[in-house]
Parts: sequence; C-alpha cells; structure tokens
Amino acid sequence: MIELRSRADIEAMRPAGRFVAGVLSTLRRETAVGTNLLDLDARAHELIREAGAESCYIDYHPSFGASPFGKVICTSVNDAVLHGLPHDYALGDGDLVSLDFAVSVDGWVADSAVSFVVGTPRPQDLALIETTERALDAAIATATLGNRLGDISAAIGEVARAGGYRVNTDFGGHGVGRVMHGDPHVPNDGRAGRGFALREGLVIAIEPWFLETTDKIYTDPDGWTLRSADGSRGAHSEHTIAITADGPLVLTDRALLEG
Ligand code: MG
Repeated sequence: MIELRSRADIEAMRPAGRFVAGVLSTLRRETAVGTNLLDLDARAHELIREAGAESCYIDYHPSFGASPFGKVICTSVNDAVLHGLPHDYALGDGDLVSLDFAVSVDGWVADSAVSFVVGTPRPQDLALIETTERALDAAIATATLGNRLGDISAAIGEVARAGGYRVNTDFGGHGVGRVMHGDPHVPNDGRAGRGFALREGLVIAIEPWFLETTDKIYTDPDGWTLRSADGSRGAHSEHTIAITADGPLVLTDRALLEG
C-alpha cells in the first residue's frame, strides 16, 4: 500500500535526512587509501549512538539475506555494487567505494548512497559515478505532480543508455517512511507516462546503480554483497525525496553540508 505523508510528517522526516546526509559526508571526507571497511562501519555506528538514531540495517533480515545484516552501513567496493557487507579490507589506491546508509530518527527513516574513488581515480570509474549521479538528478527532476512513477524510471534508464550502460531492474528504489522499504517499488527503468500518478506526500528513495560492462550480478559467499558477473565495477547514487506542491524535496541532500 502506498502511504502519503502530511506536510507535518515531511517536516518531521527532515532530521533523519539531515543526519544520513551528514554521516555520508563525514565518512566520505574521512575515507582514504588504507581505510578499513570495518572502521567505516564502526565510525558510522559511533555517529548513530551519538545522535540517538536507530540503524535500519543491523537487524535487517529479508528473505534474500542469509542472516541479519549485523552492520550499520553497506560498503560496496569495485565489482561490489549493492548490499556490501563490511569486512576486513583496507581500501587500495583507485578503489571505487559505494556507501549506502539508512537510519531512523524520531521514528522516521532516511536512506541515501554515494559512490567515490579513493586515491587516484580511473577515468572510466569517474564516468560511471557521474552517470549514476546524473541519472539520480534526472529522476528527481521528474518527481513532480502531474508525472507518473514511470517517468522517474524512464529518466534513469535514458541516462544509463546514453552513457552506454545497461540497467538491471532487480533492485531499485522504494517508498520510505516509518520503515526502510515500502511501496511503491521504483524501478531503475520503465516507460514514461505509465504507473502510479505522483501525489503530494509521496516519499521515496530513488537509487540508480550501474555496472560498467554488464547488467548481471551474483551474490558473494558472504550472503549479502552483490557483485557484477564480469568483475566490472559498479556505482550507486541514492536520495530520499518527498514530492511536494513546490516540487521534489531532497531530504538527504549533502550539498549544503559539503559546500
Ligand atoms: Mg539505501
């Protein structure tokens, strides 16, 4: 069931959005060659405790997960693109890192992801990251009254194809509210003009992710981390947004925090 949020609800969701944006900004700033993924998780956990927030991940145990996630952030490196389970790995020069983070603050969830390279980037990695960011921006720009869910999906798919990437639609965006995953599903490709007519108060996470040379993935033996079938790298960009009469409101916007 698709739930719509009141203006007061959306105001109440702002602290969660700000917190998630702040943690991703902080972790990005602090991550460098040599940073261990377990230290990133520990740092995120520390920030959660300081804020009195609640992790959406640590007890998360969906049907496709082997066991509860047990960590508070997803760290997907290089050929890993989604649900990366933090493990004992120190980042190397040129590694492409995707951080995906969701918490609840005051009973409201925010969910966001960012990808970046530590050390010296390869041009193709920067292009991949930039394309997921452009797809996210294009999708957010279509999240306006008068449009349909299919317009958001189509915007993502168009940017991917224009960049020469294929789209895997197994995992995509989702409704966000009191829990992390709600209706509607927001596919990363689709047909413009189709689907749910966007309404004021719809709050969704939009999350394009692309792989450099494939659209196939497999699950790592850790039971969580999703990796590209051909070893090529992946990138992931995500924001939680609210559809309002004044246009899309990006609850997890890092722009003000990062200057
Ligand atoms: Mg997420």
